[in-house]
Amino acid sequence: MIVSEDSAIVASKQAYTEMLKPYEQQGKIDNDPALKDRVYWITGHLIAQAITMRPETKNWSWSIKIINDPETVNAWAMAGGKMALYTGLVEKLKATDDELAQVLGHEIAHALAKHSAEKMSVLMASSIGVAAVGVAADNKGLALAGAVLAATLAVQKPNSRTAESEADQIGIELAAKAGYDPRASITLWQKMAKVGGKGPPEFFSTHPSPENREKKLANLVPVMMPYYEQKGERPFYRL
Ligand SMILES: [Zn+2]
Repeated sequence: MIVSEDSAIVASKQAYTEMLKPYEQQGKIDNDPALKDRVYWITGHLIAQAITMRPETKNWSWSIKIINDPETVNAWAMAGGKMALYTGLVEKLKATDDELAQVLGHEIAHALAKHSAEKMSVLMASSIGVAAVGVAADNKGLALAGAVLAATLAVQKPNSRTAESEADQIGIELAAKAGYDPRASITLWQKMAKVGGKGPPEFFSTHPSPENREKKLANLVPVMMPYYEQKGERPFYRL
């Protein structure tokens, strides 16, 4: 990897602020208090499980922002747990809490499994030539600017199918342990396929074989049910 996870996290922090700024200026961030409470509640439970899975991530500055954009059915996570969810996903899918937990668990999984840093590395190596030169020359300023650009591009580019399948698997486990029904992973992707067609890469372009994904998830459901059915209080991370 050209981009270590640590430098991916630093660059992502800056990319996150820059990406959200235009929406913030239009008052389109977290502007529905009921939806915000709902999403923060779900995400807080998922993050607590992510930290159990990878304890060093308790030092990440975890964040989720809800972008008011009813046309966009998407969500993403950057390195270091910087996430966004578009209202279009909630509205167009009429997503239940269990289904939202699958989406957000899947996104958290990409960050946990270092997929964001990997994608940034590929981008730095291929399309962002100048930045790569900066890295080689140890020009820190130039390298950082390139990495910020890579972090921004990374959330707009599809993940590999291997990464997707890994994120599905980790995501359904995080959600089940956080108290969300693993069966919702199947209904979620069914709804997603119906909305289908035109959409951002994270959820649409990487999955030429939805049947295969559904089959894999269906096999995971019985494995995850015991986590979901566990009694007692679930840990919570306050965002
Ligand atoms: Zn994904």
